[in-house]
Amino acid sequence: MEQLIEDKLIKADKTFSEWRKVPFEERQKLIAKAAEILKNNSEKFGRIITAEMNKPISQSIAEVEKSALMMNYYAEAENTVKPEKVDSEYTYSEIRYVPKGVILGVMPWNFPFWQVLRFVTPAILSGNTVVLKHASICFGSGNAIEEIFSEAGFPEGVFQNLEVGHKEVKEILEHDAVKGVSLTGSGRAGGEVAATAGLNIKKSLLELGGSDAFIVLDDADLDKAAKVGAQARLQNCGQTCVAAKRFIIDQKIEEEFLPKFIEEYKKFVPGDPNDKETKISGMARPDLADDLEKQFNKALENGAEIIIPLERISDNEFNPGLIRVKEGNPILQEELFGPLGMVMVAENDEQALRMANDIPFGLSNSVWTADKERQLFFIENLESGTVNINRMTSSDPRFPFGGTKASGYGTELSLLALREFVTPKTIVGN
Ligand code: NDP
Repeated sequence: MEQLIEDKLIKADKTFSEWRKVPFEERQKLIAKAAEILKNNSEKFGRIITAEMNKPISQSIAEVEKSALMMNYYAEAENTVKPEKVDSEYTYSEIRYVPKGVILGVMPWNFPFWQVLRFVTPAILSGNTVVLKHASICFGSGNAIEEIFSEAGFPEGVFQNLEVGHKEVKEILEHDAVKGVSLTGSGRAGGEVAATAGLNIKKSLLELGGSDAFIVLDDADLDKAAKVGAQARLQNCGQTCVAAKRFIIDQKIEEEFLPKFIEEYKKFVPGDPNDKETKISGMARPDLADDLEKQFNKALENGAEIIIPLERISDNEFNPGLIRVKEGNPILQEELFGPLGMVMVAENDEQALRMANDIPFGLSNSVWTADKERQLFFIENLESGTVNINRMTSSDPRFPFGGTKASGYGTELSLLALREFVTPKTIVGN
């Protein structure tokens, strides 16, 4: 391992021995300061995001602002990692939540600020320190975040950005100083990192892909579902783990809903990412666009029909596409991470549910119906970490965020995230 990287791990570990003693409320004050810096410079940081991964600038600024909001949530959060008395016959009878130490974050390029800060904020508030391995196209974002923490007054070593490629992750995670890992990204990367963590008996948290369903039933508000559905698929150029990827439409409203949906979909015309009016621009990397094009062809070879063609207009840009897919098409078992949506038609609610669940993933489904009983049927039976009723998925710091099945394990956001990288220590006796 490069000496510079080893030095940073040792520094993170040393800082941990002091940082863990800093009172929770003091840590919260520093987090509030970092949130203020983010909020006051949202355009500056947004420009870094756009330059690195092509997100339309208005969405990049919104990402920074949402990150500030999330940090403020934790700056005011209840302390759920303070010692807890347990009622018993013993004199000593309590649980202490002990931070684990240095936690490695392996983070992706799709939300270069949000994904990092979503993991880091509760981890450091619980008393851990963090080293970041950001996506290789997002080192600028990683460095900017390190500067924010420094400017906010955090001790050096609470958060450090490591400019390393993915090949170096294994050795870093195996280092004695590192006590756990949180990864957001593909199943392939997640599996490899979790295997290393497992072999070294270190805690891991995985936030992986999804292929969420957006189910529109016959009694839904179709205008709203069409508008929100297009946004749910195409914002961030479709490169969102919780994007609506499969539109499961009740056959009774197929003819009425589809034209509305197509009309909304076609409003996403690729433009200059630096223009504040642009709703969609290029994908983050040309190889990701190649992959999407291959998946489009694979879907067609297996019987999918074109509703709107996916048209490549530059090395990383598409006019968004929409295909009709039937049960059994192998493409349904894959995540489409770009501007290509799938439409399926269901004869009834039972079939809609079966289609929704018949995938390896389970992240965050969305159901559109005004009927309470039908809502409950889907709430109880959908296999996903989140179920949204008459709204698109959009994470909210107050609610837990995480998946089931191949979408990963562990919880981000909410008060629950404060307990992800701590060890409950039982103190009992007389
Ligand atoms: P990756 O999962 O490869 O990248 C995410 C992060 O993991 C990056 O920091 C990357 O580093 C790192 N990484 C990659 N491989 C390994 C490994 N073997 N060991 C340790 N770390 C690793 O995503 P891609 O950028 O290649 O995108 C491929 C697909 O992944 C997308 O099309 C999408 O389906 C999915 N994805 C899902 C995301 C989500 O939010 N759930 C986010 C991003 C991608 P480096 O950049 O250096 O390779």
